[in-house]
Amino acid sequence: MVTSVHTSTNAFEMKESSLRARLPLNTDEQNEARLKLTHVLQTTLNIEQVLELFFKHIQNSVPMSGLYYEHQAQQFSLQVGRDTPHHCDYRLITPDDDLGNIIFSRGKRFSEHEMATLESLLSTLIYPLRNALQYRQALQTAMNDPLTGAGNRIALDNALHRELQMAQRYDQALSILMIDIDHFKQINDTYGHAFGDTVLKEMVQAIDSVTRNTDMTFRYGGEEFVVILSKTEAKGAAVIGERIRQYIEQLIVDEDGKKLQATVSIGASTLGPQEPVKSFFGRADEALYCAKRSGRNRLVSAKCEELVTTS
Ligand code: GH3
Ligand code: MG
Ligand code: MG
Repeated sequence: MVTSVHTSTNAFEMKESSLRARLPLNTDEQNEARLKLTHVLQTTLNIEQVLELFFKHIQNSVPMSGLYYEHQAQQFSLQVGRDTPHHCDYRLITPDDDLGNIIFSRGKRFSEHEMATLESLLSTLIYPLRNALQYRQALQTAMNDPLTGAGNRIALDNALHRELQMAQRYDQALSILMIDIDHFKQINDTYGHAFGDTVLKEMVQAIDSVTRNTDMTFRYGGEEFVVILSKTEAKGAAVIGERIRQYIEQLIVDEDGKKLQATVSIGASTLGPQEPVKSFFGRADEALYCAKRSGRNRLVSAKCEELVTTS
């Protein structure tokens, strides 16, 4: 385990008027580095790229082994390079925003002069970082279902096309599960819409709790969800689908004295060779309706050959 032998914690507060005053004595080289960084950091709104570019370009001024960045409110963190024993931490604050924490690390202590240089260079990161955080937040809002936090239909479309291309390019398996809550209208009618909303939220939590981190859950429609299982064959998809079905079957949703055990029906499909997304998705849908017709609270796996040839 790496322990820190020297930690310096600093609040890097950027008030526009005081920015120049906080800079150490600028050599021409330092000014040039700042100018270069300012240009480079403006080339992207992707937060990972902003931090990677910053890390790469500060090496000439203050060599270091690693950079760790964390923004708690956005639940985002990134390690660039390696973590080593000597740290130098900054909390990045502007008059309007808390932009998170950044920790520089390397094998030997940071000198006072180097820390002053780092502060000078950090000022170039503030606005690109704020823009990248805002962009990330906007993307997340646009891609997530506000009720359950699962990806929405736009996110599902993007992910399906991306995963399908990856699976075909690298010849990897790909499966999806289409999950629909049984008799959900009746749940709403009996327990009320607000309780129905709670059931929807708990379903997503239940799905997430029994799937892998790499599996992705989306809310496809009212009470329908899709899980994309990358690198997963039909057999694996059936195991995960069945695990979800059983977990939900024994789950008790309990709110304001109302208790309910809901069930779900699941259709699974596994990508066939050269299969288009429409057919792959359609087969999961067909399998789901088959599960509904045969009594609900069950999983049906689509048979690739039969359904592909009829599409
Ligand atoms: P089946 O077992 O065949 O799937 O029947 P079902 O009742 O689950 O399906 P149906 O499509 O008849 O009803 C779905 C219901 O989901 C109707 C709609 O009012 C409800 N619904 C859709 N979106 C929401 C939502 O955001 N919150 C709540 N509480 N209900 C929703
Ligand atoms: Mg339903
Ligand atoms: Mg439905």
